[in-house]
Amino acid sequence: MRKLPFLLMGAGALAACGKDRPNFLIIQCDQLATRAIGEYGGLEGYSEVMDSLARNGVVFDNAYTACPLSQPSRTALLTGLLPHQTGVRSNSGKWMNADLDPQLPTLGTVFSAAGYNAVHFGKRHDCGALRGFTHKEPVQTKYQDPLVPLNPDSFKDVGTCADAVEFLSSPGTEPFICMVDFQNPHNICGYVGFASGPHAVADTAGLPPLPDNFEVEDWSALPIPIQYLCCNHRRLEQAAHWSPENYRQYIAAYMRYVEIVCAQIRSVLNALESTPAGKNTIVVLLADHGDAMASHRMVTKLTDFHEESVKVPLIVCGPGIQGRGRHLGQLVQTSTDFVPTLCGLAGIEVPASMKGISQAPSILGRRQKENHAFVVSQWHSEYDRIVSPGRMIRLEEGFKYTHYLEGNGEELYDLNADLGEKHNLAGDPASAELLQRCRSILEDYLAASGDDYRKLELKVDSKYRNHAPGYPSHIDGYNLWNFCNPSDAPGPHNL
Ligand code: ZN
Repeated sequence: MRKLPFLLMGAGALAACGKDRPNFLIIQCDQLATRAIGEYGGLEGYSEVMDSLARNGVVFDNAYTACPLSQPSRTALLTGLLPHQTGVRSNSGKWMNADLDPQLPTLGTVFSAAGYNAVHFGKRHDCGALRGFTHKEPVQTKYQDPLVPLNPDSFKDVGTCADAVEFLSSPGTEPFICMVDFQNPHNICGYVGFASGPHAVADTAGLPPLPDNFEVEDWSALPIPIQYLCCNHRRLEQAAHWSPENYRQYIAAYMRYVEIVCAQIRSVLNALESTPAGKNTIVVLLADHGDAMASHRMVTKLTDFHEESVKVPLIVCGPGIQGRGRHLGQLVQTSTDFVPTLCGLAGIEVPASMKGISQAPSILGRRQKENHAFVVSQWHSEYDRIVSPGRMIRLEEGFKYTHYLEGNGEELYDLNADLGEKHNLAGDPASAELLQRCRSILEDYLAASGDDYRKLELKVDSKYRNHAPGYPSHIDGYNLWNFCNPSDAPGPHNL
């Protein structure tokens, strides 16, 4: 990308005010749900460092990922595109996902072209979208925790934390953008394997409560791929027959992984604050997607668009940001808005390929002239063994519509009255007009964005749909980890 004299770039940014260019510290967690953060109205007492960032910064209450799965979400975020535009739709390797266009501008190429030292530590899972960053692969350090089983997710985070601390303790004199990608609380996926099947609970004292939307009242009212998530994904197969107490143990374990990553984030922030550069650094905390946290009897993240899976934390704090602890309610499409927002804060021109909305005016306390009327999310497949594409439209006024190719399944939720998404209104005659409007918005979005959703292949063997709907009715023994390509199979560590 062509380098431009900095003071000529963009408008309304910190640099244009004559101040030094801000540095950026981006901290991304894998599978961090807003419900895990006290300042988001979640469970209290586990997320002190995140709560502190929220109280000192700007909190986006309605930020949505364009895909509740790691690799598609990360690739989209770094390129400012949607998954159907990057061609990276699943966690599979290149044998199934399209190669990323090497000419696409990325967060790393945009900022390095503008004179930033772009460094990345930790998890990749980016299909090449980290281009422009200098990446350091973390060294694993094995250790044990007295409360939860650990796997390489946690072991790698030790190295990621150490690498970030080392860099931030002596960041040099040129402006930097430092991205720190922690695996946790993703270790919860390994926990489900560790705790597979129903098991006795000796002591429930101290376990977190189940969420209000734990029970599913009417499985048949849900789209087929939601009814059979237990047959789609080995983690939900492993949890399908859990007792309510087992789910409470799951939440407790999840929050322990949150605590572990919070301690590492604290170390990273301490290093940042130990140098003069820290005073001129904007800190961003976000996640690639959420976690079900036992809502709707679900664990981890799956073929669903519930709030727990697709809504992500997004907190921004640092110099130039107006109003500490402000909560902003506008819709944010993290995948498309993230890079334009950082460009807006740095005074860098946004590449023409990126069509998202910069949230920088809101962050800087200025008038936000443009907002999303709706945001979207997409699902294709995890590893392409079962392919059951779906789309979500979340409207500004609080309605959520989903559609799945399989069985032409639909959901319609009024988040204003039903934040737990317990009542699917898609079959409610009183909501027929709203349903029709949502259908039209989906079709308009598909046409406007070139989304090939209607042409995608549905690939579901009927043997994965042959028990009564709902996870408690699941029949074990489908060998759900039967990969098409052995290179995508998890290592033995991944329980
Ligand atoms: Zn099943």
